[in-house]
Amino acid sequence: MRFDSHIERLLEVSVALVNIVTPGDARGAAYEPPTGKALVDGIAEATSQPGKPSCPTESQALSLVDVVPSLRAVFVAAERDDLAAAAAVVNELLEATGARPRLDADESGRHQLHFHGPDDGYVRGWQAGLASGLAVALGSDLGGRLGVCAAPVCDRVYVDGSKNGTRRFCSPQCQSRVKAAAHRARTR
Ligand SMILES: [Zn+2]
Repeated sequence: MRFDSHIERLLEVSVALVNIVTPGDARGAAYEPPTGKALVDGIAEATSQPGKPSCPTESQALSLVDVVPSLRAVFVAAERDDLAAAAAVVNELLEATGARPRLDADESGRHQLHFHGPDDGYVRGWQAGLASGLAVALGSDLGGRLGVCAAPVCDRVYVDGSKNGTRRFCSPQCQSRVKAAAHRARTR
């Protein structure tokens, strides 16, 4: 089972924002989030689509990522298989962001369920969308697909979009670091 493309996209944006904004460890090294313009650019890039760049103001970008600690808490709870805790955070987010489902037609006239905020402004629109993406994931068989990287010295989050749902790492780099360490341990 796979996510539909709209939900997949919302989950990818959640992952990107959490991983940009959260200090900690990334792929084997300490990670400090960028500041100032670099941070705003990173947030803008995370919310851009091919052919549809997003250009938030600094205050919009920084307001959007107010929800990052809650988004991250959902991945952490899902990683522990504590779906009740993850659901509680998502329900709070849905409430706080005023998420509003709506059927929107694409260019071919096919209707897809999209999630809007109380208004379609950058901050409220995205916050509601991100909360809704996580809600759809947790409300399906795919809640276990949200995770935190299992590699040492890495706490980045990911969404497992693989066919069989066996992903454990945030990136190919972490996967090969762990493989290499296991190989060294075997041949020592
Ligand atoms: Zn990792």
